[in-house]
Amino acid sequence: MSRVLPTLLLALLLVSPMSVAAASPAERLAEAIRFETISYQDRSQIDLAEFRRFHAFLRASFPRVFQQLEVETVNDYSLLIRWPGSDPDLQPVLFTAHMDVVPIEPGTADDWEHPPFAGVVADGRIYGRGALDDKQGVLGNLEAAESLLAEGFVPARTMVFAFGHDEEISGRDGAARLAERMREKGWHFAWMVDEGGMVISDNPLLPDKPVAIVNVAEKGYLTLTLVATGEGGHSSRPPRTSTIGRLAAALQRIETNPFPTRMVGPVAAMLERMGPHMDQPNRFFFGNLWLTGGIVADRMSEDPMTNSYVRTTTALTMFNAGVKENVVPQRAEAKVNFRLLPGDTPETVVSYITELVDDPGIEISYDEWDNVPGVADYDGGGFAVISEAVASVYPDAVIVPSLLVATTDTRHYIDLVDDQYRFQGMLVKVSQAASVHGTNEYIDIQSYENAIEVARQMMILGAR
Ligand SMILES: [Zn+2]
Repeated sequence: MSRVLPTLLLALLLVSPMSVAAASPAERLAEAIRFETISYQDRSQIDLAEFRRFHAFLRASFPRVFQQLEVETVNDYSLLIRWPGSDPDLQPVLFTAHMDVVPIEPGTADDWEHPPFAGVVADGRIYGRGALDDKQGVLGNLEAAESLLAEGFVPARTMVFAFGHDEEISGRDGAARLAERMREKGWHFAWMVDEGGMVISDNPLLPDKPVAIVNVAEKGYLTLTLVATGEGGHSSRPPRTSTIGRLAAALQRIETNPFPTRMVGPVAAMLERMGPHMDQPNRFFFGNLWLTGGIVADRMSEDPMTNSYVRTTTALTMFNAGVKENVVPQRAEAKVNFRLLPGDTPETVVSYITELVDDPGIEISYDEWDNVPGVADYDGGGFAVISEAVASVYPDAVIVPSLLVATTDTRHYIDLVDDQYRFQGMLVKVSQAASVHGTNEYIDIQSYENAIEVARQMMILGAR
């Protein structure tokens, strides 16, 4: 008896932290942030054990999801969860998010209002790395599914959740392997929704209404390598044209001749749908793009923020030549990074740049090219479901399709899905976007609760 009592007490002590952890969605997200599931470019630096601990935390926090649904760990650290629907004839829907986060830039940890991995809840906010990108996405989906399971919800359409563990360093070991597994199983989805869109509370074009940005396309990513080779030698007897001079002249032509502006479908649709909510003259300009498209595109190209929506952008990012101050190098190399509008391809970029460079002594090449998702339907299908879900939580929101100027895990799922969307239901300020991958990342508790409700509605409406 005297031995049993301490054992019971010990058992109670061990159990009690669990019941504390189950308090609220905000506290669960805060706890999730405390796991340092950091992706490093040098993969040997990644603490993979931390991902296992994070999985254990998810299992303990969302018992219905992990006990009632079909859960598979893919490539040790990614999660694939299937919720079978009652009607096998309906095409399933895919919800994705990623469990990894980017590191804190060295020397900036002290600039945070609360330490980046402390998971502090204060002033109505949840602070920490991953609060927006993208632990709220993983936890938000699980909160939604867990609560629907508790209510006894039975989807007609099968739903699948895929959570990768290395989105921030290409998704090679996470999303790519999840996709491979789904391919083996022969799954094909009507539509999917990933991170990469949100509700903006202070959009400069429509400051008094929430604007839900549902990204229906994303820009392509391409890096060209330019190499100039030629005569080198001693700097006391230099050639008339050095490799450095030759390459620099080519780069100057590239930088001063950007790709022409172009109004692509999703961007035009975004402006057209915002138009009716605006004052003149924007209302006229955005409502008559057939006439004003060129002027609007030129105006947008003046600001680096909006320029990326109307142009395949050009960024000179690397230049290497020379090893010694008195030696003329025989080789100079530069890299130029392009973000491509839908419709442009590596071939169109190479041919445009080759023509501009117009120098047979400069070789232009590229190593790899990731396939770019196509433009998803922005009238019916998944877009209609997402719109209805948003309207149920944000009744006065203006819901628009748009173009994501970054990349996400979606490109790994191109062949598995008909329509790919990027959207999560949190409400954020434009200034908050800078905290993603930066300092003082946080999410408002209310905003996170909204995101969970939007996710619930996307599941309820999407699974019909
Ligand atoms: Zn992300």
